[in-house]
Amino acid sequence: MHEFTPEIEKVAQEILEYSLTRLKDNPPLDGPKSEAELFSLVGNTITEAGLGGSETLQLFTQTLAPACISTDHPRYLAFIPSAPSELANLFDLVVGASALYGGSWLEGAGAVFAENQTLRWLADLAGLPESAGGVFVQGGTIGNLSALVAARKEARRLHPEVKRWAVACSSEAHSSIQSATEVMDVDLIKVPVQLDGVMRGADVKKAIDLYRTENPDRDICAIVATAGTTNLGIIDELPTVGEVANNHKIWFHVDGAYGLAGLAHEETRKLFAGVEKADSFIVDPHKWLFAPYDVCALIYRKSEIGREAHTQHAGYLDALTESDEFNPSDYAIQLTRRTRGLPLWFSLAAHGTKAYSDAVAKTMETARMAADAVKAHPNLELLREPNLSIVAFTRKGWTMADYKAWSDKLLEDQIGFVTPSTDKGLPILRFAIVNPWTNVSDIEAILATL
Ligand SMILES: *Cc1c(COP(=O)(O)O)cnc(C)c1O
Repeated sequence: MHEFTPEIEKVAQEILEYSLTRLKDNPPLDGPKSEAELFSLVGNTITEAGLGGSETLQLFTQTLAPACISTDHPRYLAFIPSAPSELANLFDLVVGASALYGGSWLEGAGAVFAENQTLRWLADLAGLPESAGGVFVQGGTIGNLSALVAARKEARRLHPEVKRWAVACSSEAHSSIQSATEVMDVDLIKVPVQLDGVMRGADVKKAIDLYRTENPDRDICAIVATAGTTNLGIIDELPTVGEVANNHKIWFHVDGAYGLAGLAHEETRKLFAGVEKADSFIVDPHKWLFAPYDVCALIYRKSEIGREAHTQHAGYLDALTESDEFNPSDYAIQLTRRTRGLPLWFSLAAHGTKAYSDAVAKTMETARMAADAVKAHPNLELLREPNLSIVAFTRKGWTMADYKAWSDKLLEDQIGFVTPSTDKGLPILRFAIVNPWTNVSDIEAILATL
């Protein structure tokens, strides 16, 4: 099993050939099958003698892979798609082949160095000071949780008398913020917002004043602004929310899992003025920064606070934690970690930042054209002008059941993958456009079915 035999060599060639073909050719959209169907096709794959490498690869490429939707397909526009660059995907093969350990400087110095330069690029785009730093974690959910745990640790240090803490965010914030508050067992203040869905400084101030009046022995440890909501791409008013947080000495976290990729393009960057006030922020390169799953950049204004909050202590770790070196494990809820920032690093280093700016600009342009196409369509109504690359709209006269039936058929016909969502309790459709391969002709092909 651990020897590179001629038989393994043959499977290696097959695996590389499959991988390269998957990268080069436009993949079909594909779609799920039921467990019963899959079982009838492949049976039980775990046997005492093993199936053999080539046979198992065949099972995967012929049957299991086609039962997975290609999230990088240009007409996959549901949720938030993925659109890894060719080089980012290719370098993931290198990461997989290299047994790199990304938890400590001692073991992974070269890789950690490269990851940190990538994080520095993001921190600079956001306008954070030299003290900023962090780590690539699995996704925005873990990134948000880790940032909020650090925020509470800092709040507890400054105000040990406070009995219980709360996190404030808008009612449009991502579900992972609520999940984090449940894990942390802190209160969640859902700040009411105006009809446009944007949370502003004055809304936050009102909500935290009310919370403080009603709960004299409690206080707020973090205010979370969303820089591009998942559903509609709404950006909270970062300058005023940041100012309220700074004035009240409350940790300011910016959840930019989807949207903050827009920092890479100078026009879009202007929408995020105020992010420089953040005590921490996250952005998921697996969403709109062209990296493969799964990777979230978590960055603290003062990396030291992240380290204080998350370093694990044990005799067997002293060799690492007692050194002054930068150990990525210390900055989030994790210990062992793969060097998941390297695919992004490689592609960014190879192509340069201009290519990233251009790719973001391309998707923004496609989103604008998609919005125009929706407006020109007799049966559709644009919900709002897109400020990022999410285009949301409704189909006149349709109920949720109509939307669902249409969505199922669209996938069945292999035209596209677009799932219904809701806004203010009413069903909507949305295109999330993060793939530079998505052209307006793809959008038109989908709109033709509405
Ligand atoms: C996607 C998303 C998250 C969660 O990120 P995962 O990587 O899916 O865990 C959090 N916040 C926002 C705004 C998101 O769009």
